Amino acid sequence: MRIQKIRYQKFIEQKGKCFYCQSPMCAHDISTFAKQHGLTSRRARLFFVTAEHLTAKSCGGRDTHQNIVAVCLYCNRTRHFAKRPLDPHRYAVKVQAALGRGKWHGWQQAAQRQHSTSHHDQPVRPVDLHEIECRISI
Ligand SMILES: [Zn+2]
Repeated sequence: MRIQKIRYQKFIEQKGKCFYCQSPMCAHDISTFAKQHGLTSRRARLFFVTAEHLTAKSCGGRDTHQNIVAVCLYCNRTRHFAKRPLDPHRYAVKVQAALGRGKWHGWQQAAQRQHSTSHHDQPVRPVDLHEIECRISI
């Protein structure tokens, strides 16, 4: 199966949320996504869906449904920027810890800005606040 197809299936299975940071991801139109989430298009690009190998290809990982998860570009890039990238499960823990401190991605800040102009009075819950709104056309 082609990796793009697996990535798309994972995107649907994960309800459009990044495996690591749970941010909504964009699978199609960046400018629509940016507008919907109150982001600049430059920042919105970091939410683009990418395929992450749980077992790296260099370690024998294959392009299979079991070995691939959908992650946002930011998480993918940040992990691979490290000299010795953490394995995906440790990295997930690190991302969650950073999220807890409000230091990941700027998504929470964006969500809060949006919240302050919305009509809802519910407390801000950054991770679950937004359902994915990015419409995909294949
Ligand atoms: Zn992410």
